[in-house]
Amino acid sequence: MPETIFQKIIDGKIPCHRVYEDEKVLAFLDVGPLSPGHTLVIPKEPAVTLDALSEESSAALGRVLPRICRAVMKATGTREYNLLQNNGSLAHQVVQHVHFHIIPKPDPSRGLGIGWPAGTLDSSQGAELAARVRAELR
Ligand code: AMP
Repeated sequence: MPETIFQKIIDGKIPCHRVYEDEKVLAFLDVGPLSPGHTLVIPKEPAVTLDALSEESSAALGRVLPRICRAVMKATGTREYNLLQNNGSLAHQVVQHVHFHIIPKPDPSRGLGIGWPAGTLDSSQGAELAARVRAELR
């Protein structure tokens, strides 16, 4: 697996505008922000997608995400925001290292734009699918 740009940032080989760091997590400003304060929060563990991440790194991310969200919103004077986490190129993942985007939504024209082509859940198909997922979780 080739070294990702985020691994280089973790290793200090290329710079970033760091906003938070601990033993397992790093957060820094996105170089292509959708709005001021657009921040990336990444585990130091080199997992490509969230489903491949250890429980330790997941817990470390979960512990600090709300705190970093609060800090970004306060620092930018923004109240609303989106969290985005892409897994796989079809799902718009470009950098092959798990990352959460914190994207302030200061007004309708800036921040994350979302297409939401909602369908309708068929009740019997839903029951069957939920049972399959529950079985996978056992
Ligand atoms: P994704 O499409 O979810 O993989 O998003 C990758 C994000 O990484 C994009 O928003 C890029 O702007 C951002 N990015 C790429 N290189 C850097 C870098 N060197 N420093 C900060 N952000 C970066």
